[in-house]
Amino acid sequence: MLKIHCPQCNKSFLWTDNMPTQDKCPTPDCSWNYNIHAELKKNVNRHAVEVKSQTLHCPFCQGEIASKFTICPHCSQIVMGKKMLKKRYFFLAVCLILVILSLIFKYWVK
Ligand SMILES: [Zn+2]
Ligand SMILES: [Zn+2]
Repeated sequence: MLKIHCPQCNKSFLWTDNMPTQDKCPTPDCSWNYNIHAELKKNVNRHAVEVKSQTLHCPFCQGEIASKFTICPHCSQIVMGKKMLKKRYFFLAVCLILVILSLIFKYWVK
């Protein structure tokens, strides 16, 4: 079932599965034709916009966070997009980078 809004007569009607995918608007003196595929596309776009405007939530404590890449102010976990990084791993990564940098520096000085 899908709600279709007719741009010509400004009325909405419900499309059900047993109706054709392309047909005339059910309002008696309206000549607009709907296409269910185009309407579905519109619906998907609308959903995408809605999702974008939603507030972000911390995956650990569900508290509100300002951006995808941040440290949660509620539980202090590091939030990196959809992938969650435990603080422990983050520091390990930083240590590894420092070790690599020091090695590069050593060989460079030689
Ligand atoms: Zn109509
Ligand atoms: Zn949190």
